[in-house]
Amino acid sequence: MTATRSALSRRQFIGLSGATAAVTVVGGCATNPVTGRRQLMFLSESAEISMDKERAPHQFSADYGALQDARLAQYVSEVGSKLAVKTHRPDMPYDFQSLNASYVNAYTFPGGSMAVTRGILLGMENEAELAAVLGHELGHVNARHTAQRMTKGLLSQAIVAGVTMYIAEEHEKYASLAYGLGGIGAGALLARYSRGNEREADALGMEYMTQAGYSPQGMVGLMDMLNGLHKRKPDLLQRMFSSHPMSSERYADAMAAMNGKYNVARSLLLGRERYMDMTAGLRKIEGAIKLLQDGDLAMMKQKFDQALVAYTGALRIAPKDYAGLLSMAKCQMALGKKKEAQRFVERAQSVYPGEPHAVHVAGMVSLASRQFAAAHAAFAAYDKALPGNPSTAFHDGTALEGMGRKEDAARRYAHYLRATQQGKEARHAHQRLIDWGYIKPAPAGHAE
Ligand SMILES: [Zn+2]
Repeated sequence: MTATRSALSRRQFIGLSGATAAVTVVGGCATNPVTGRRQLMFLSESAEISMDKERAPHQFSADYGALQDARLAQYVSEVGSKLAVKTHRPDMPYDFQSLNASYVNAYTFPGGSMAVTRGILLGMENEAELAAVLGHELGHVNARHTAQRMTKGLLSQAIVAGVTMYIAEEHEKYASLAYGLGGIGAGALLARYSRGNEREADALGMEYMTQAGYSPQGMVGLMDMLNGLHKRKPDLLQRMFSSHPMSSERYADAMAAMNGKYNVARSLLLGRERYMDMTAGLRKIEGAIKLLQDGDLAMMKQKFDQALVAYTGALRIAPKDYAGLLSMAKCQMALGKKKEAQRFVERAQSVYPGEPHAVHVAGMVSLASRQFAAAHAAFAAYDKALPGNPSTAFHDGTALEGMGRKEDAARRYAHYLRATQQGKEARHAHQRLIDWGYIKPAPAGHAE
């Protein structure tokens, strides 16, 4: 498709490029699966699922992809499946992932794609605690909290449209970094729940886990672990708490439920030995994971030298750790060491071939090294594996611009501008479209 220059208005040009990104959010009055009551729900079940399928892979990849420890990944999935059949929506396409990210978190998308990180897996001590965390996420899916929050207009337009305004903020922060994925890595595609949602998810989690044969002690243990960690290392839980508000009240509620309604279930399975056995491989590199956590926090605070020390230590313990290698590549980029960054991103790609996040970072490293064709090839590969990330469109536009392919670059910039019109990237993209005559500058005093 060829865009005709100058004759097109900005709106027309933007409309020409690429497929529409709009998510179908048609719903209506639906029965809440948990309460059985009819309620207004703008997000239909099929929309919940399609939104989930569209976004979960991006988030999972940004969290360094699925654990390469197949036995542990399988175990987590089996525990989740035991609970899923006990839920109010047993037929949802549940998917229980374990991810390489080191920070402490668990999250779910509205169609039932959920994940736990290595950080939280390392923090827990028995299978009942794992059942509790998965039960809680299942609670969010079953009570349809994302759909509810969208219906009430509590999720930002960015989240509704499947793109993220956080790109701008996040990107300004990491302008010099090779993150390149906008806010996706920070969980920007996930819903922020209310305290009421959390209470309901906890109650449902407790119900599902006990029905699946686990002791309610697991929920109490989980809350205790999270509260303790929050007191000692609040930064580690920042992301988890930003989507799941946490309080000592939740611990007290779990305790009361265990001593009251679920008292008879207290003697059910804790599964400490099995959990310890399954997570033995993770515990062997616990030192590395802790150092990765330190490194990630240092990166967030832009203390790159400090991050370098932590990542070096982590790689000394676990030299073939994909998350470690890729984090090191980003850190080297932040320090302006492009050659070193390239070396680490190549090693990351060799230990986890095809994982899209590394491909994206490779593109950013090439871009910084002014290897525009290599950068474009990487972004195209990423876009094929995980389509629809506006941030990729922007960076690909930059690569194409570097290659002198103005028309293709303009198309990519226009694609980006359809997703977001705020931030430095948007200003750059907009300015190029003006410079190249695709759009007219807005008249003075008429801000667009
Ligand atoms: Zn929650």
